[in-house]
Amino acid sequence: MSARILDGRAIARVVRAELKERAAERARALGHPAGLAIVHVGDHAASEVYRRRLAETAAAVGVGARVVSLPEDIKDAELRAALAALNADERIQGILMELPLPEHLSARAVAETLDAAKDVDGISLVSGGNLFLRLPTFVPSTCAAVLEILDRSKIALAGRRAVVVGASDVVGKPLALLLLSRDATVTICHRATRNLASWTRQAEVLVVAVGKAGLITGDMVRPGATVVDVGINVGADGQVVGDVEFDGVSAVAGAITPVPGGVGPLTNLMLLAQCVAGPRLLQDGDGAHLAD
Ligand code: NAD
Repeated sequence: MSARILDGRAIARVVRAELKERAAERARALGHPAGLAIVHVGDHAASEVYRRRLAETAAAVGVGARVVSLPEDIKDAELRAALAALNADERIQGILMELPLPEHLSARAVAETLDAAKDVDGISLVSGGNLFLRLPTFVPSTCAAVLEILDRSKIALAGRRAVVVGASDVVGKPLALLLLSRDATVTICHRATRNLASWTRQAEVLVVAVGKAGLITGDMVRPGATVVDVGINVGADGQVVGDVEFDGVSAVAGAITPVPGGVGPLTNLMLLAQCVAGPRLLQDGDGAHLAD
């Protein structure tokens, strides 16, 4: 068997065109393009490239990106004040705080300060609570990207066994909650999970977000499963690979996202889509809705 390729680049082209229309509608309603503040502390070459790409994509779809550069030696109180000013700025609809922060700063201070109505990457304490309680919210853009690929590829979730490998606050955990909100039966695996393969082999939908090249091999996958690879690993040769051993797994799986060209192309677009749309109620399960 050879798996269907879930082509993130092709899906991204469609999402991008739709987003452009929605951004234009929102700009008409606001009287100006939706504004995204990209906040970063200090200067690092890799994140500079990331910011430039995000700002270019924003401009291309009709979102006004504003890069807010803060000095490396900024104190927690000053960072809070900078975020509070953006919370109050009417031309800013979304705030992206680049993580990780330098060690002397508290990610908790950011999570407490960001206004949940502008927290387009879903990292604030309130967004986490809203996701948990299924109240209108933003979600981490990587998680939104995974769901977008599954939805646009018509992969059913309700009642299916989903296994998420990786339990971080920004990917694994929120993704597990999103899959649960779609009525999947969800298992979360992490670094202390014993016999990982015994769990992954049960998955009808397997999502892997760890950061270890080659972690998932063909013998760990149930025949016909959908496999979404969130991992990004840069090899010694500079090549980017995911967490899933692509050749072996695509011989067993029913559908698979490649790396590169899977989740990655959608992540920034989903961030911008959330900036344009605002916090939203999570979609219900895609099957018959189950009574609680
Ligand atoms: P993280 O380091 O914060 O978390 C990794 C998780 O993997 C942890 O929960 C840990 O317990 C688990 N883990 C570690 N070793 C394991 C093992 N052997 N078996 C099972 N679980 C194990 O990482 P993160 O920020 O969640 O990112 C995960 C991966 O996703 C990274 O490769 C990152 O680069 C990538 N990522 C991709 C995108 C994208 O847009 N495609 C966005 C964010 C992160």
